[in-house]
Amino acid sequence: MHSSTEPPCIDVAIIGAGFCGAMVAVNLLRNAKGPIDIALIERCGTFGKGLAYGTSDHAHLLNVPAAKMGAFPDDHEHFFRWAGSHPDELQHYGLNHVTPGSFLPRELYGRYVSSLLDEAENTAPNGTGPYPAQRGSLQRITAEAIDVAPQSNGRLKVRIRNAPDIVAQHVVLALGNFPPGDPKLRDQRFHRNDRYLENPWSTQTKMKLAEPADVLILGSGLTALDLILSLAAEKKSGAIHLLSRRGLFPMPHRSVESYPAFFDKHHLPKTALQACRVVRSQVKAAQAEGYDWRAVIDAIRPFSQQIWQHWSKEERRRFLTHLKPFWEPHRHRAAPEALNLKSQLERSGRLRCYRGRVLGIAPGDKHLIVNFRESVARQEKQLHVAYVVNCTGPECNYHKLKDPLVIQLFSRGIIIPDPLFLGLDVGVGGTILNLQGERVDHLYTLGSPQKGMLFETTAVPELRLQAAELARRILNQLEHRRKNRAADQAKEALGAFHI
Ligand SMILES: Cc1cc2nc3c(=O)[nH]c(=O)nc-3n(C[C@H](O)[C@H](O)[C@H](O)COP(=O)(O)OP(=O)(O)OC[C@H]3O[C@@H](n4cnc5c(N)ncnc54)[C@H](O)[C@@H]3O)c2cc1C
Repeated sequence: MHSSTEPPCIDVAIIGAGFCGAMVAVNLLRNAKGPIDIALIERCGTFGKGLAYGTSDHAHLLNVPAAKMGAFPDDHEHFFRWAGSHPDELQHYGLNHVTPGSFLPRELYGRYVSSLLDEAENTAPNGTGPYPAQRGSLQRITAEAIDVAPQSNGRLKVRIRNAPDIVAQHVVLALGNFPPGDPKLRDQRFHRNDRYLENPWSTQTKMKLAEPADVLILGSGLTALDLILSLAAEKKSGAIHLLSRRGLFPMPHRSVESYPAFFDKHHLPKTALQACRVVRSQVKAAQAEGYDWRAVIDAIRPFSQQIWQHWSKEERRRFLTHLKPFWEPHRHRAAPEALNLKSQLERSGRLRCYRGRVLGIAPGDKHLIVNFRESVARQEKQLHVAYVVNCTGPECNYHKLKDPLVIQLFSRGIIIPDPLFLGLDVGVGGTILNLQGERVDHLYTLGSPQKGMLFETTAVPELRLQAAELARRILNQLEHRRKNRAADQAKEALGAFHI
């Protein structure tokens, strides 16, 4: 029984309906033995798309081939088959067919995940056993969650902006990635300038950058590449300048013959340097046998989380400082089509790339003045641009986030960053750990907040497994609870009978 002021308790509340949140819901609905009540809370109003797959730009391609993007861990080709069986969807993007190695538009992938959610919602199983005719239900709530408060009865209350609270047995934080952190400059006044664009993914940012004026992109990762592709089509005049510390762009994907695993889980490298040496020598040996270096990098994937967990905090820090900048472009590669377009823009002079470090960003008259030290010429240079956009990668240090929910959870002591400030401190399976290092019962996360624990936890091949496993764990607990409750009721009834 719930008090008149408390809303009825549902089974699971999921905050965030990007890939992770949507796929936890899909797995819950598909695998629940009886009806299950889920609230899926998403502030953007689109369910199953999130930041990565909510783009409407057809030039934004997946950076993983179609045959590896299936949303289920036991069916990697599911998306490839789905795309092949939806020719009308493909035609929307001017495509006639799909191959296993196709790099399809990310928007199409968003439609795929949304369709899985719709399907799971519409075919949620009828109850069996103790739950006869009732069906599982998914409540989609378009609003922002701003608090999660543990209750004395073990439940969790989710506060939602401008909407009634929700009380749930289990809560999943599927919050995804946050906008990049601001460059560390002594004069920070540029933060308040409208010409400094801190969120590279917002629609306003793209509209401003498309204006006929010179602009500067900071960073050269996948987000920078996305922006370049958008601007190639939308920006009619004005140069696109790009400044990054090392001038390293994601390497192009290529379909390669797979290379045998070379790490042994019982003898993992103890240091980052040791791992680096092993990989280098494997690349050399592989190339001598006609393999591509990409195959060697891919062969590390099944071991990368174990290697990370095997390292001490100091060793992880060493990797982050010295090796990560080189690891990322090799590991997180881009569609060759995207890189070809970038090269064309560079050749035509529309895109000008520099390697160096920003020294200062100061306001000018209707522009920003950016001073930077160019690494190649070892000279200070200056650019006058209408806008500077930050594409230096999502902010991982949760202490620096301005997100209301995150701030509130910190103030409750429910969450704490991991020791390297890559995400949140979590236990096995994404259980949230609080300020005291204790498990917060029934509160979980998945995806990028687990970076400190897993490091490799941002792409679909890892996330689909996490979503399926988390759903399984929650279902087991719900089932266990229902059985206990049924047993208690039976005992009570028996007691009454004896009386
Ligand atoms: C631009 C980009 C491209 C990528 N491309 C690929 C790719 O091609 N292949 C690949 O495997 N991976 C790719 N990734 C990795 C990608 O992060 C994952 O594949 C996946 O989309 C992450 O899903 P998520 O649910 O964790 O996060 P998101 O997709 O970011 O979803 C989080 C959702 O939570 C919502 N939310 C957050 N806080 C609240 C709140 N308080 N209340 C309500 N809602 C909230 C947000 O609005 C958002 O919709 C890409 C990532 C980015 C950023």
